[in-house]
Amino acid sequence: MARQPLIAGNWKMNKTLGEALELAGELKARVNNLTQTDVLMCVPFVYVAAVSEAMRGSTLMVGAQDLYFEDSGAFTGQVSGPMLVSAGCEWVIVGHSERRHVFGETIEDTKKKVAAALEADLKPILCVGELLEEREKNLTEKVVKEQLEGAVQNLPEEEFNKLVIAYEPVWAIGTGKTATPHQAQEVHAYIRKLIGGIRGAGTADSTRILYGGSVKPENIKDLMAEADIDGALVGGASLNADSFEKIVRFYE
Ligand code: PEP
Repeated sequence: MARQPLIAGNWKMNKTLGEALELAGELKARVNNLTQTDVLMCVPFVYVAAVSEAMRGSTLMVGAQDLYFEDSGAFTGQVSGPMLVSAGCEWVIVGHSERRHVFGETIEDTKKKVAAALEADLKPILCVGELLEEREKNLTEKVVKEQLEGAVQNLPEEEFNKLVIAYEPVWAIGTGKTATPHQAQEVHAYIRKLIGGIRGAGTADSTRILYGGSVKPENIKDLMAEADIDGALVGGASLNADSFEKIVRFYE
């Protein structure tokens, strides 16, 4: 089954409102209406409404970088799925390594967040990936299995089908070190096998698995040539319209 490539930018904690609207506007002018790639920007919470409004009528999609798993209540500083949807958001990143390793998010948290996102009708991008010391101890598969199964094991098939997985080796995020296409492909193939074990061959075949970790215009083509790499989650290179456009147009 052909999987439509998805290129998702993760702006992290960057840009003022004016700068965010400027970048989104440039992207709308450059990569609207592409048929070969789905394009998504995961923007800081405070810009979701404004960027969604600015992207109205285009094919560019807007996501958030996290959510809280309760819908509402006394959770100062948190943002819920229904709040994001009401602001025009369609997607949400869950379990980014910075959430796990800087903010102490657990596998149990990611499980609740995936469920909350789906309940709110958001499409989750679940991030999984190993630390350098885990790779060096040959623990990559064990870590990825625990993170994936821990978050999605009990999802019904129709919910599972809305998920995107992002394999992001932590040692490659924001470091300039990219996994080689071969290293990434090995783990992507393993993740697809795990999905097959959880939800069967059809779901494994249709689920998009993105690679993330220092993706740049120079390496995207080789990564996308691998059989199980269906797109990219892009941090640093998504903050500039030139580099993000080149990544989005990897097939040219
Ligand atoms: C990310 O933010 O998920 C990421 C992969 O960042 P970078 O592209 O900067 O490594």
